[in-house]
Amino acid sequence: MTEIRTRFAPSPTGYLHIGGARTALFSYLYAKQQGGEFILRIEDTDQARSNDESVIAILDGMEWLGLKWDEGPHFQSEMFEGYREFAEWLFGKGLAYKCYCTPVELEQRRKHAMEEGRSPMYDQKCRTRERARPGYEHPAIRFKIEPGETTFNDMVKGPITIDHSEIEDFIILRGDRTATYNLTVVVDDAGMKVSHIIRGDDHINNTPKQIMLYDALSQGIPQFAHLPMILGADKARLSKRHGATSVMAYRDMGYLPEALINYLARLGWSCGDEEIFTMDELLEKFSFDNVGKSSGVFNPEKLLWLNQHYIKEASNEKLAELLKRHLADLDIDTEGLENLPQIAGTLKERAKTLVEMAEGAKFYFIDEFEYQEKAARKFLKKEKAPLFDSLIEKLEALDPFTEEAVEGAFNTLMEELDLKLGKLAQPVRVAVTGTTMSPGIFETLAALGKEKTLTRLKRAAEVARNAAE
Ligand code: GLU
Repeated sequence: MTEIRTRFAPSPTGYLHIGGARTALFSYLYAKQQGGEFILRIEDTDQARSNDESVIAILDGMEWLGLKWDEGPHFQSEMFEGYREFAEWLFGKGLAYKCYCTPVELEQRRKHAMEEGRSPMYDQKCRTRERARPGYEHPAIRFKIEPGETTFNDMVKGPITIDHSEIEDFIILRGDRTATYNLTVVVDDAGMKVSHIIRGDDHINNTPKQIMLYDALSQGIPQFAHLPMILGADKARLSKRHGATSVMAYRDMGYLPEALINYLARLGWSCGDEEIFTMDELLEKFSFDNVGKSSGVFNPEKLLWLNQHYIKEASNEKLAELLKRHLADLDIDTEGLENLPQIAGTLKERAKTLVEMAEGAKFYFIDEFEYQEKAARKFLKKEKAPLFDSLIEKLEALDPFTEEAVEGAFNTLMEELDLKLGKLAQPVRVAVTGTTMSPGIFETLAALGKEKTLTRLKRAAEVARNAAE
């Protein structure tokens, strides 16, 4: 059996896109579940469009998603010489020829052909040329397409046949001696012994060209799996106008990588009517048999739903760790803070994103908050002052200041004063958060800690005492 080797081969011309991430995920899942290797190759031959920031952004995105590569990153920019050699070798073998046509000439002839209702493909003018064109020192090299057809059995789309009459003699080496995508990809996929090429179906038309180059190389042809594009709600290809398309933008918006992985896996693949998959479950269950042939529509609401699920599932410690960057965005310093897991625990049932969670956590950190006017009028009334005083007395005695202990103190006081919980909890909520909304009051006070709770209750007691009759 040949070893399973897959690769993800992004061009570093921007951030890691949601669509690219899904391609990477499927390549990763397939390699890993088959006990194979997953290779990362940076396709940076287009030096004008490639840049280092994009490389870093792609690596960061992969790492954040947990898509660990076994080999690489390889950089195509380090292999220019090999591509040239292959192109020259094809030329030497008579499988390719030098083309002296200039871009202007090509464009003119293309236009002319279209006007006459002929195919705009390259007219093979230089194919029969016997000598160099005087004065033209930098010919391109074109690969010769011979009559016939190419068939391959796509793992997603099934058998695909393309007649060679639809393919032009394509350029493999440009006049400036840089190689084109179809050549570099074959040199590298063959050289890296890639067994399964998993990529977006925008490359499906390139596949027969690549197969012909494999044949020229006398190399076994890999398996291909072309994934349908991801669409926006309006069925146009997913782009910025549909919302964030960068993987790292989702981290910044407070998404967990588990949620994005789960979402991307289900976008184009299914397993009965199950929706929730951890990476381990995906590794076990993923199969190309259940990858859909048609495009999936990106559904931000479903992603949000999954995110909420993974927030609920996460341990408080993990949430605390993830929350730090979002609190920092709100200028909240969490250095040395020990009760952050506890704080996260009080918020995880409700927050859909970590950003929401950080927003919800603000009151724990900001002591000098303003009371919401309506809430203060209703709950920090003069008559409430003794209630605060009694509660302060009870809470002061608590050690340790746990959720259970706080609940006990509340219960005793409610019994003594014959009060319902709401009558006590709402004023306390306003006292400690400034609003009438907070997580469960006992856990909130416990997470806030004894000192801050008492300070805030005392402040509220004072406000109440000084309130107008
Ligand atoms: N660099 C190409 C891209 O980003 C890779 C295509 C392929 O996987 O063959 O579209």
